[in-house]
Amino acid sequence: MNSAREPSVIASHEAVQGTAQTTHEVFNQAGALENHNLYLGDQALREAIQRQAPAAEAELVDYGQLCGVPEFIELGFQANAHKPSLHTHDRFGRRLDVIEFHPSYHALMDQAFSAGLHSSPWREAEAGQGEGAHAARAAKYYLHAQVEAAHGCPVTMTFASAPTLQLNPVIAKTWLPKVLSNAYDPRNIHYREKTALTIGMGMTEKQGGSDVRANTTQASPIGEVEGCEAYSLVGHKWFLSAPMCDAFLVLAQTGAGLSCFLVPRWHPDGHKNPLEIQRLKDKMGNVANASSEVEFRGALGWLIGAPGRGVPSIIQMVAMTRFDCMVGSSAGQRQAVIQAAHHASHREAFGKRLIDQPVMRNVIADLQLEVEGSLAMTMRMARALDSQSEQDQLLLRLGTAVGKYWICKRNPQHAYEAMECIGGNGVMENCIMPRLYREAPINAIWEGSGNIQALDVRRAMSRSPEVVDAWMAELLTTAHSDPRQDAVVENLKHELAVSDECSSRRLVELLALSLQGSLLLRSGNAAIAEAFLAGRCEAPSHHFGALPAGLDLELLINRANPHCYDL
Ligand SMILES: Cc1cc2nc3c(=O)[nH]c(=O)nc-3n(C[C@H](O)[C@H](O)[C@H](O)COP(=O)(O)OP(=O)(O)OC[C@H]3O[C@@H](n4cnc5c(N)ncnc54)[C@H](O)[C@@H]3O)c2cc1C
Repeated sequence: MNSAREPSVIASHEAVQGTAQTTHEVFNQAGALENHNLYLGDQALREAIQRQAPAAEAELVDYGQLCGVPEFIELGFQANAHKPSLHTHDRFGRRLDVIEFHPSYHALMDQAFSAGLHSSPWREAEAGQGEGAHAARAAKYYLHAQVEAAHGCPVTMTFASAPTLQLNPVIAKTWLPKVLSNAYDPRNIHYREKTALTIGMGMTEKQGGSDVRANTTQASPIGEVEGCEAYSLVGHKWFLSAPMCDAFLVLAQTGAGLSCFLVPRWHPDGHKNPLEIQRLKDKMGNVANASSEVEFRGALGWLIGAPGRGVPSIIQMVAMTRFDCMVGSSAGQRQAVIQAAHHASHREAFGKRLIDQPVMRNVIADLQLEVEGSLAMTMRMARALDSQSEQDQLLLRLGTAVGKYWICKRNPQHAYEAMECIGGNGVMENCIMPRLYREAPINAIWEGSGNIQALDVRRAMSRSPEVVDAWMAELLTTAHSDPRQDAVVENLKHELAVSDECSSRRLVELLALSLQGSLLLRSGNAAIAEAFLAGRCEAPSHHFGALPAGLDLELLINRANPHCYDL
């Protein structure tokens, strides 16, 4: 166990030793899952990387090692035990708007930014070395997010901001080098003095979150500042995460309609830009990350993209954050399953290790099957990001919405079931499971909740019907490989023909299942594809652990085991 979480236990144990007989020996407890290599132990990820980014393997082996070190794991516990706090004013009454974080949060951020989780594909593309860069970065992020997910919010937003910042060439020239620098500079000082910059995002207002057209924040032109059209923003945001970022991409109304702005924390003149943090959100999960309510009191913002084109401008950022939701939620699933498999391998009940009990075998195999499907879809989207082909761009248009909907939505149930594998210990705060469980619904809700993803899929299909052709072309690669897969595709075709708005979720679910089935059929691992087609398509169950008889559970359990392939 991580000693930093257990000082009182050690103290009371010492006290007891002096005064009383030891009452019992502690045995048949699994112990902490640590000192393992998250990459080497993850056969599904390794296979994906061997296909998509083999040059990244050595780096991922090192990263997998880091993510299994007890001290690194402990940072995740500490960052969540010590909530960030807001200081609105200094002791003399001057406005501060500073967030105080525990050192463990800064350590995690430092690691993430030094590793280029926010930058590597953009930097490598610039250097002409982009092959497999999104796949490699997604894999590294998948490992990192398993240690702690909440601090990934500013990492993702900074990563995702790059395509939107590119829309303003002057801003891109001045801001992007520091946004993409592989360094973390948490100082609350002027952006010109900093070595590295982070970017947040402000869309959601009180009266409208999903419906950003309802935004009331007003932006009035004030002329050119530092070579860009500047505006003064008055209004608020109801959710603005990571408010210590150096600037925020914000939507506000102009005479031309909703427009996108980059609002820096410090004004170009050197004073604090009047962006005031009202309070921090008291969230049930995502605790290490600060999310805030803010007011803009004449804050300067530079126009990004054309006036009135706010949604198309920021949507480039949103597409990337949705992709990262797929990465993050797949990572949550993987961490949950390795915790469950580790526990079940080291705990006996009724005369056998839990992992050898037939019903438990079905549960763990099924939890891993979910990871296989999630990872396959995520890495397929990473490949599409790495590709310049039109087919892949069309696939991506539907795939990020479908993938975010499906993977994020499956997560809470998956986390809960893994928690149940661990029994009562899985409910305790000194275990990672409560954190994984509370984190699980977050990705599903932010960046467009389930219904919004489903509606976005419909919108994409009606505006560009070729996205459906691209999806079908992808499925065609496995046509006639298996009648169960063919049946899902037939169902999908039927749904495409009859679907109305009310049945949008059904359509999205069929899109997700059809793609996952096809990808697993193509992965070259027949037993995994068989389990998916039998357990998700032919005889789907209501809960995890009800896979039909006759499947190769041993293979899935080995792939769930964090040590099996770690050689
Ligand atoms: C931890 C966290 C961090 C966040 N950080 C940020 C941030 O940094 N920046 C930011 O801008 N926002 C942020 N958000 C806000 C988040 O993006 C919104 O909460 C989300 O988009 C939903 O908006 P809403 O809360 O206003 O709910 P609503 O828009 O009111 O939606 C409520 C429900 O109605 C559904 N719904 C909406 N419209 C329709 C429709 N037409 N048909 C059917 N169903 C519909 C939605 O899917 C949802 O389930 C964050 C949220 C969380 C939880």
